[in-house]
Amino acid sequence: MKIHEYQAKEILRRYGVATPRGRVTDDAAEAAEICREFGGRCVVKAQIHAGGRGKGGGVKLAGSPEEAQELAGQILGMRLVTHQTGPEGQEVTKILIEEAVDIVSELYLSITLDRAQGKPVVMASSAGGMDIEEVAAKDPDAIVREAVDPQLGILPFQTRRVAAKLGLEGGTARQAGKLLASLVKAYLDTDASLAEINPLLVTGDGDVIALDAKMNFDDNALFRHPDILEMRDLAEENPLEVEAGKFDLNYIKLDGDIGCMVNGAGLSMATMDIISLAGGEPANFLDVGGSASEEAVQNAFRILVSDESVKAVLINIFGGIARTDRIAAGVVAALEELGGIDMPVVVRLEGTNVERGRQILEEADFDFIVAEQMADAAEKIVAAVKGGA
Ligand code: GDP
Ligand code: MN
Repeated sequence: MKIHEYQAKEILRRYGVATPRGRVTDDAAEAAEICREFGGRCVVKAQIHAGGRGKGGGVKLAGSPEEAQELAGQILGMRLVTHQTGPEGQEVTKILIEEAVDIVSELYLSITLDRAQGKPVVMASSAGGMDIEEVAAKDPDAIVREAVDPQLGILPFQTRRVAAKLGLEGGTARQAGKLLASLVKAYLDTDASLAEINPLLVTGDGDVIALDAKMNFDDNALFRHPDILEMRDLAEENPLEVEAGKFDLNYIKLDGDIGCMVNGAGLSMATMDIISLAGGEPANFLDVGGSASEEAVQNAFRILVSDESVKAVLINIFGGIARTDRIAAGVVAALEELGGIDMPVVVRLEGTNVERGRQILEEADFDFIVAEQMADAAEKIVAAVKGGA
């Protein structure tokens, strides 16, 4: 799960990370008031779940409350396009108004899970403010890495080492080390999958401040953090993925036009592959799971066909624990609920109760295209899409 910058800063402040003063609002007039409170110079920052807002025009410096109000009016309601949003952009409904700070230098600091090492790894760089992916590609040696023992947390010699490698000295090095320890503790305590400060600012007085903050969390651990779960912003998520989540379905939106209803992640992946091999493109990945009930399947099918990019549906089910008759009944129930649909549906059923499953499909008031094997199913669905287009 992702959260907004202002929420990540709220969490990090609890751990002692210094940030500029700021308040979130959805109102341009209030933005002016907040700016006045902070002395009349402020930054107006779009709150969306994507990075690169600065380059996209979602972060602007205001020299007066009037200017803050004007900029807030421009940013609120805009569809902000960044390299992380896709071309359609993301609508801005909230802005963070922060006191403006003078920048001397910008650093990068983050912690995330390194799957290869099986440990969280701190990454730091003196090339802050810019894309870390770009730094990693052009000059990988400019990134300092420090693996953290998840039981011990980061140790003082490690925070000192990172600060020294960033070229920091004296009070600034001590502050940066302390801030890093706080960042790591916040990451571990909250079961985060990423905690990133970019840029981490060094001020003229040598103080360090988190100017931007980003945190992502491990969904499987959210049950332990009801306060963080409350920060979820459904408006930032794909509506069909949200709907599927309500029924414990694993649904992921993709770019193609073939809707796929499959059971089990392995078979889902294989189905994506074989569709691609046959020259088609999946519109999504929908895994109804091993023990799907008729109701779950009904919801899955309804969600699948409500995706406007779906031109045809492939149902590929191998019934082990899942019973194919239940799957068939769920699909037929969904079709009845929808009053039929105007697109081809290719079905490949195999496994438990398959005779009964096929019979249900045959008796239904809908012409399914029946496939025998996976390759046959892939060819039939690709032909169906191309024929319909
Ligand atoms: P991102 O582009 O989504 O990562 O948004 P950031 O919060 O990192 O803001 C982008 C850039 O705006 C930063 O790298 C800074 O250079 C600049 N910026 C943000 N806040 C301030 C501020 O208070 N003062 C000044 N001078 N620049 C700021
Ligand atoms: Mn940033």
